Amino acid sequence: MPDDSTPSEVWFLTARTDRFDYADSLLGRFIELLDDYPLIDSVGRGDVVPVKIHFGSRGAIQTVRPPFVAEVVNALKKIGAHPFVTDTVRMLGHEYLEVANRNGYNRATLGAPVFLADGIFGNDSIEMDAGELLGTQCVASAIHDAPSMVVLSHVKGHIQAGFGGAIKHVAMGGVSSHPRHGTWEKCRGKAHFLMGTIPEWKGVDTCNLCGICARHCPMGAIEIVDDKVIVSDDCWRCGRCISACPDQALFTPKDDDLFQEALASQARTVLGTFSPARVVYVNFMMEMQPECDCMDSCDVPMIQNVGVLIGTDPVAVDAATLDMVADAPLLLGSRADRLIRDGYDGRDPFGAVHLKNSWGHVRHAAKMGLGQVDYTIKRI
Ligand code: SF4
Ligand code: SF4
Repeated sequence: MPDDSTPSEVWFLTARTDRFDYADSLLGRFIELLDDYPLIDSVGRGDVVPVKIHFGSRGAIQTVRPPFVAEVVNALKKIGAHPFVTDTVRMLGHEYLEVANRNGYNRATLGAPVFLADGIFGNDSIEMDAGELLGTQCVASAIHDAPSMVVLSHVKGHIQAGFGGAIKHVAMGGVSSHPRHGTWEKCRGKAHFLMGTIPEWKGVDTCNLCGICARHCPMGAIEIVDDKVIVSDDCWRCGRCISACPDQALFTPKDDDLFQEALASQARTVLGTFSPARVVYVNFMMEMQPECDCMDSCDVPMIQNVGVLIGTDPVAVDAATLDMVADAPLLLGSRADRLIRDGYDGRDPFGAVHLKNSWGHVRHAAKMGLGQVDYTIKRI
């Protein structure tokens, strides 16, 4: 656990550049930052180390850009580690690897192998005690077994968490979607479906029978039969159909604060497989669109690019992210239009568009001892 006697230090690299040469580009300065940052304090020489990213989706291409991932791979190799780039299964595994390749994440572009941390079927995982709220969760085996990890998070909004940064990434991205043994209750969907139901259909008065939900379902668990949407018990509880439905015709009973607590518990479960300070978090506040990168498309960014944060305290890195996002300009012509029109002066624009409190899971994580919301910024 991070030492809580002094604020955690978070390094910051601005996205702004005013000299148009490579050394002054964000990528050029990111390479310098990686040269200076003490990665070796977290990642041991000889470690086989996951570089955890989100591969995106077929139409969600605003993820962490491949050259930044490649430079993290380079930096890890320089200190004698053996990096691999990884994510967990979200759609069917073989299709997800194709998405990764199309989005620019492959051996040729990154200089490291790219594979699924929970295997091609999403069920290679280790059962862990996840506390009272979640019971048992299955952590992806390639993350569970690794001695250290580097987490590269694309900051964006999220329909239920308000925003997604390091903690949400570790929570949802470190747990298997479909454990080999047991039911959906041991997988990442448990946090979304704490009330235990599968998605419920509100009926034909709300639904336009467009079939988008069925097309988004990785399990083929949705059928439209005789003008009715039917969800079978093959459901993984991933929640994609609910997010994708244009008419809010699918729902599950939710308790927002319980979800935020569950998210923090899930992150604690994944991080509990590492020794203290053996995980490095890099948050990219770039191309910050309002929805999760799991969705099958992405909207235009709603907040101006800010830059990159790096540190070993996930709570501090996310707290700094939320503060910097709050200080950044909202962008016209985006989901932020309503906020701009209404003169929004709050400190949580992602939460404001989703009617959620983005700080919820960050504060729960702090209470659970994952880090602290107090931080100092070291500007690079
Ligand atoms: S996506 Fe929504 S509106 Fe379309 S068929 Fe499914 S439930 Fe109905
Ligand atoms: S939550 Fe919806 S999309 Fe996800 S597996 Fe269940 S039915 Fe399919």
